[in-house]
Amino acid sequence: MSRLTVVVPAYNEAAVLETFHGRLGRVLDDLPLDCSVLYVDDGSSDGTWALIEQLMARDVRTGGLKLSRNFGKEAALTAGLDHVDADATVVIDADLQDPPELIPSLVERWRAGYDVVYATRTARAGETGLKRLTAALFYRSMERLSDTSVPRDTGDFRLLSRRALDALRQLRERQRFMKGLFAWIGYRQTAVYYLREPRQAGETKWNYWRLLQLAIEGITSFSTAPLRLATWVGVMSSMLAFLYGLWVFGKAAMFGDRVQGYPTLMLVILFLGGVQLLALGVIGEYLGRNYAESKQRPLYFIEEQRLPRARSGATGF
Ligand code: UDP
Ligand code: MG
Repeated sequence: MSRLTVVVPAYNEAAVLETFHGRLGRVLDDLPLDCSVLYVDDGSSDGTWALIEQLMARDVRTGGLKLSRNFGKEAALTAGLDHVDADATVVIDADLQDPPELIPSLVERWRAGYDVVYATRTARAGETGLKRLTAALFYRSMERLSDTSVPRDTGDFRLLSRRALDALRQLRERQRFMKGLFAWIGYRQTAVYYLREPRQAGETKWNYWRLLQLAIEGITSFSTAPLRLATWVGVMSSMLAFLYGLWVFGKAAMFGDRVQGYPTLMLVILFLGGVQLLALGVIGEYLGRNYAESKQRPLYFIEEQRLPRARSGATGF
């Protein structure tokens, strides 16, 4: 029987974990798969770990990892994924915003041959207009700036096939924007739609400050567009400075200037400013390359492989 593991990052989720496990357990009971659950306690301070221990004692399908401190969701998720050994892996939040009841539909798509099945929400119940607006803005700029297109309105709730998981595990960069990484690995990806409910209990760990940080992380780890911006601003302003410099020079040469030394001073300042910005741009370009190298991502993943077989004996030529 194929094995399925559900990875659940949990940070101070004691209020909801019991309910969550109940609902998840009922779903897994009905799946014709060898199921297990792996909780990752991301340095909680509210008895989440004690609860996970209880669940482990009660339900043999359950396992737990306890991180030494709060490392953030992306790291907790990575830790969980690193410890999975299954044919399919589901990633889900503990707060019941991602309904466990959707897992059978994810599994069905996986059975149909997809490697990454992500759950996309059709409505963001319980979220303010501002949150929706900032989310929309983020997805839009991500689409513009980066080559990796991150599916809209998609959280981390998804199913990964074995090879997708193995691919993801090879991405060891430190700044981890999981949504982007899931998209980056490629393979056959598809969406399943659902209605996102408001959080059942406990409170969100994401305030706008953390969301902004996440957004910056997403953009900076999937694009060097901000660096390139420096180059363009440099080139543009040097050109403008050059034109203005010509004008100042021409005017002084023809009519002289009432302020002694002003034209020379102006030319020197404009010249140096332009040179500096350009140099910054050049440094930026190299920095961007260095950054791409330092992520050490694999160059490609192979989805199918049919190499020509070497024929023994005479060649065909
Ligand atoms: N989480 C985590 N570490 C953190 C913050 C959150 O493991 O530092 C977990 C949290 O317990 C939950 C999931 O990540 O299972 C999503 O968090 P949350 O519901 O606060 O985010 P939101 O749904 O508001 O985006
Ligand atoms: Mg949530």
